[in-house]
Amino acid sequence: MVLDPPPLFSQINLKRKAHLRDTKQVTNIKNCSHLLIWRGKLLFGFKYGKPFPYLINHRTKLIKNLRKYIFLGEFENKNVVLWDMSDSKEVLGDTEQIGSFSDSERNYHPDLPRGTYFCDLRSLLPILGANYANLCATAKGMHEWQKRVNFCQSCGGKLTSEKAGWEKTCKKCNFKQFPRIDPVVIMLIKKGNDILLGRSHGWPKKMYSCLAGFIEPGETIEAAATREAMEESGIKIKNVKYITSQPWPFPASLMMGCTGEAQNRTLKIDKDELEDAIWVSKEEVFRALNGLDKSIFMARKGAIARYLIENWVAGLI
Ligand SMILES: [Zn+2]
Repeated sequence: MVLDPPPLFSQINLKRKAHLRDTKQVTNIKNCSHLLIWRGKLLFGFKYGKPFPYLINHRTKLIKNLRKYIFLGEFENKNVVLWDMSDSKEVLGDTEQIGSFSDSERNYHPDLPRGTYFCDLRSLLPILGANYANLCATAKGMHEWQKRVNFCQSCGGKLTSEKAGWEKTCKKCNFKQFPRIDPVVIMLIKKGNDILLGRSHGWPKKMYSCLAGFIEPGETIEAAATREAMEESGIKIKNVKYITSQPWPFPASLMMGCTGEAQNRTLKIDKDELEDAIWVSKEEVFRALNGLDKSIFMARKGAIARYLIENWVAGLI
């Protein structure tokens, strides 16, 4: 048994309705709502300080002028279409933080309703409601794929978006490409009353989290967890157990959360991968989670690492 609700993004409440992706006029189907994205930042409204993806219920003039769209599926009885307005020069606010680890700037467009802002999804994780999270993850993940994949992997020809944004086809050689995700294993490594936490270069100061790494071709989840733990920290783990998964659209990961039991304690840190790694006791983790110890910050709310750590403190994993 693990804590309920599941990690953020993992509560599935978007009906994808893949059969509608074939529809020629998918943007005109009944019950359509429109969501906007600008340079990777989704449009949000705020109610009592809490963000929600701002859905526009008719095709305004601004939306009619946009060309790139993705049909996301049905959310709260509305068919949601995502429109890319990254080319707009009219969005205001600072752009310096775009693409950084933490972009807290709220950009806005003067023709959109007051109080709506283009926000970095990652910066909103601690306050984003679980009911909106899966829609946001799908929108962000699909936008990232659309943005990055423009040329044919087979012949280098230009790709054309089809199936309401869910396929890309090369007109030269007919090769088709589909949205892809990168599986990542993330491990809560346990030893007695302690867990192993690490921090990467460039993270916010004092922030620590579980070790993680990409699964390579030919590997199982268990093998990748064992290899990554050894490579990054010199710790040999056994009894790797899969706990749960989380879509992580920054830009295209699927996090596979596991636990593993450490066989040794002496760390041999790969400084190219990690800036630091430490053993932390359950009492220290509890204090840090509750803001009682300012010398260490746990993985942020909304991240699967935080979910694994909270389950461990609760004695569930
Ligand atoms: Zn091609």
